[in-house]
Amino acid sequence: MAASIEEKRFDRERREMVAEQIEDRGVEDRRVLKAMRTVPRHEFVPPQLQAMAYTDSPLPIGEGQTISQPYIVATMTEMAEIQEGEKVLEIGTGSGYQAAVLAELKARVYTIEIRSTLARRAEATLERLGYDKVQVRVGDGYLGWPEEAPFGAILVTAAPDHVPQPLVDQLSEGGVLVIPVGSQRGLQGLRRLRKKEGRMEEEELFPVTFVPLMRE
Ligand code: SAH
Repeated sequence: MAASIEEKRFDRERREMVAEQIEDRGVEDRRVLKAMRTVPRHEFVPPQLQAMAYTDSPLPIGEGQTISQPYIVATMTEMAEIQEGEKVLEIGTGSGYQAAVLAELKARVYTIEIRSTLARRAEATLERLGYDKVQVRVGDGYLGWPEEAPFGAILVTAAPDHVPQPLVDQLSEGGVLVIPVGSQRGLQGLRRLRKKEGRMEEEELFPVTFVPLMRE
C-alpha cells in the first residue's frame, strides 16, 4: 500500500533526524530521544509541508506561527527534566507537537494557546493520534493555569521580554521553567530557572529565535 511505503519513509527520516540533528548535538536523555523517535512530526505540519517535516528547521503552521526546529524541542524537553506522572505546563501550543513529546514522557500535560484556530487544530491532531489526555486551553499563557498549579515543569515556546511572574508562582518547589526571553527583533536567550527553597536559580543557556509571546 502506498500509505505504508510513505510511513516507512517517515520512520526512516525520523530516526535520521534524531541521530543527526539531536544526538550528534549532545542531547543524551534516553527518554527524550525515544519520545522524539516516536512522535510522528509529519502529522503536526500542514499537508503540503509533510515532506519537509523531518528537516533541521522550524516550519510554518499557519497564522504566521511556526512549529519549532526538532533540536530545539528536544533540548528544551531535556532541560525541563520531565518526571513521569508530574504536571507540566506548556505555553504556546502551536501545532501540538511539543505537547505530544511531553505526553510521550508520561507527563500530565496542560498547554495554552492564544490563537483559537491553532488550539482547536492542535487538539484535534492530538486526539487523533491518541494523545487524548493532553489538556488544551485557549487563552493568554502569560497568566499560566492557576487552577492546575503547581507544575513540576513549565516550557514556554514563545518569547516574552521578561519572565512572567505568574509562571514563577505556579512552579512547584524544585520545579523548572524553560523560557526564551528577549526583544521581539533582537536576540533572545533561552533560560532555565529552578525554584529552590522558594528562590529562583537562573541559568542562561544559548541564543534562540521564537515568535513573540503576545498579550491579550
Ligand atoms: N510549541 C509549538 C510551537 C509554538 S509557536 C509546537 O510544538 O508546534 C508559538 C505559539 O505561541 C504560537 O502558536 C502562538 O500563537 C502562541 N502564543 C503567542 N503568545 C501566546 C500567549 N500569550 N499565550 C499562549 N500562546 C501564545
